[in-house]
Amino acid sequence: MPETVYDIFVIGGGVNGCGIARDAQGRGYAVYLAEMDDLASGTSSAATKLIHGGLRYLEQYDFGLVREALKEREVLWAMAPHIVKPLRFVLPYQKGLRPRWMLRAGLFLYDHIGGRKKLPATKTINLGKHAAGKPLRPGYGTGFEYSDCWVDDARLVLLNARDAADKGASINTRTKVIAARRAGDLWEVDVLHLGSGETETIQARMLINAAGPWVDKVLGTIEGRGDDHNIRLVKGSHIVVNKLFDHDYCYIFQNPDGRIIFAIPYEDDFTLIGTTDQDYAGDPTDVAISSEELTYLCDAASEYFSHPVERAQVVWAYSGVRPLFDDGTAKAQETSREFVLKLDEKPGAAPLLNVLGGKLTTFRVLADETLDHVENLLGAKGAPWTAGSTLPGGDFAIGSFAEELRALSADYPFLLPTHLRRLLRQYGTRARILLGDAKRLADLGENFGADLTAREVDYQLEAEWAETVEDILWRRTKLGLRLNNRDIKALEAYLKTRRGGEIA
Ligand code: FAD
Repeated sequence: MPETVYDIFVIGGGVNGCGIARDAQGRGYAVYLAEMDDLASGTSSAATKLIHGGLRYLEQYDFGLVREALKEREVLWAMAPHIVKPLRFVLPYQKGLRPRWMLRAGLFLYDHIGGRKKLPATKTINLGKHAAGKPLRPGYGTGFEYSDCWVDDARLVLLNARDAADKGASINTRTKVIAARRAGDLWEVDVLHLGSGETETIQARMLINAAGPWVDKVLGTIEGRGDDHNIRLVKGSHIVVNKLFDHDYCYIFQNPDGRIIFAIPYEDDFTLIGTTDQDYAGDPTDVAISSEELTYLCDAASEYFSHPVERAQVVWAYSGVRPLFDDGTAKAQETSREFVLKLDEKPGAAPLLNVLGGKLTTFRVLADETLDHVENLLGAKGAPWTAGSTLPGGDFAIGSFAEELRALSADYPFLLPTHLRRLLRQYGTRARILLGDAKRLADLGENFGADLTAREVDYQLEAEWAETVEDILWRRTKLGLRLNNRDIKALEAYLKTRRGGEIA
């Protein structure tokens, strides 16, 4: 029998599982988190990556959700100014779709219900003169400019896990929950360590199922819970093309089907276009963009840009499955993005909490509300603490991102500005830990391409749970967009030597 009894066992290393683990460990509960793959390998790396209220949810009268989410924009920006940044969105008025008065009224509400302090307000623009009008087809006149924020979703998850671990949580990747049963007031959870093939039983006082789109499947492995149906799986895909425009504005385009798509500047040289909304019946692990979605996204963007977006321009595409609380609505796009915390408790038996639905934007609020349940069930420990806290690397002592970048450049003048900027965006103040006493580029070891050095890879292996090429190129960074096959082979060879060495 295991010696340690944890307070909380969290299933799932997505944004919700890692956010809960961080909050709980920070309040003094002992947390064990199991993620069956890599951190953020599920839905939490497949988002549009917006910290937003969701303008279109106003149409569904989801005012509570929009207000709560809008408030989180500036909270999360302050918490992680390296991976979160403000953006300006341009919404062109399109004849025959939503009328001008409706767009104006929606944006007025959006500006005023969410406690906006630092983000600039909405303004009406003339696309005939505005920089954002240039790449569009001729004829657009009125448009609206408004604020939201962007986040590196995969790194948001990772930083929550890092902070939880720094506070003492046990974070276990490639660790799959295969069964769980109640033994009186404790849970016994069987985990399979996928690397070694070994199984282990962990004991905890409370079980939190934050398995995202797998939440019902996981429930099926929990004793006495075989036939639950809580969530509606809704697939969404994005495409990435070489950059379509030379300014920093994002677009929000309305489509004749009532949906919207975004076109967002991405990783300096690219444009991200998405998303789709389709009911999904398969295994979330197998989700991939369909030919129909590719056509839909290219066609929807081509309605607006003067140069059509062709399928041949797509350099990368990704898909994810939204685990939405099933509220019985007819259309996938109308299903609420609100989260639900469903408690399963019986007197004298260890409690189970299922996390259903939600958004990246509201992960911190979701964790905070989860901890209300934890306190009721396990007894109070620390007070709520995450609002006003910083995530690892987000403790900018100097000020803005630009000022931090100037200071980092002064200390490491031998690195290219683009390299330093990427390091500061990804690691924040921890870029200094990574760079350490380096005096020249060669001190950072082998360069695998696009300034990904051995020193950076080592940091990800040691401090960020990275194990595979995919973890490094598509979740810790997005350098998969830049490295060629030869570079990738060199990185694979390096990982092999590291596996044979100290991280074996
Ligand atoms: P996940 O990230 O899927 O995490 C669940 C984890 O559980 C997975 O990593 C999985 O591997 C693990 N797991 C499953 N079974 C087991 C097991 N047996 N043992 C151990 N681990 C297990 N939100 C926004 O706020 N802004 C956006 O712009 C936005 N855009 C989106 C666009 C798309 C296309 C999609 C699909 C979603 C978008 N979202 C957005 C929503 C947001 O991404 C999700 O709400 C959020 O990522 C869900 O996180 P999660 O932790 O619940 O699930």
